[in-house]
Amino acid sequence: MEVFIEPIGRLINEFSKLPGVGKKTAQRYAYRVISMSEEEARAFADAVVDVKRRVRFCRICGNFTDEDTCAVCRTRDASQICVVKEPKDVIALEKLHEYQGVYHVLHGVISPMNGVGPDDIRIKELLARLREGNVKEVIMATNPDVEGEATAMYIAKLIKPLGVKVTRIAHGVPVGGELEYTDEVTLARALIERKEL
Ligand SMILES: [Zn+2]
Repeated sequence: MEVFIEPIGRLINEFSKLPGVGKKTAQRYAYRVISMSEEEARAFADAVVDVKRRVRFCRICGNFTDEDTCAVCRTRDASQICVVKEPKDVIALEKLHEYQGVYHVLHGVISPMNGVGPDDIRIKELLARLREGNVKEVIMATNPDVEGEATAMYIAKLIKPLGVKVTRIAHGVPVGGELEYTDEVTLARALIERKEL
């Protein structure tokens, strides 16, 4: 016999699909929802559905947006492109208020072990942006782990013949670390002290 009645069990099950949420936390979340007013619960559920309905990828950079192109692509200096693995890396860099250029989100890194090749991430789209001719610098800001480094090197090789300067964020971001978990001072310095590839 199930311990929880069906609607509660179902909600616990949904919450436990979230990263870092175990059974116990999921149960706490479910009880919190039960104690909400009808209005609160509806606002909560609406936000979940709305994010799926409205959020898409920017046509240019691949970051999340609720329009055709994102605010960064529409308003910022497009002569500098910072290449990152995931949308959350854009957030980590934006928090620094240091960078004035635009981004390119790869949506992954090359990883032969996981069957991810160059055609599976947004490299073609990056090269297409560079061929338009207004880009002066590409900053490779993939994570400083093995796959991030290999991806940065691979892309740098493709870009060089196009005559665009390619730089790599400096070390200081711990090797094997992730941008998202790097403290802001270290990440800002890594960005400022980037080296040409
Ligand atoms: Zn964009």
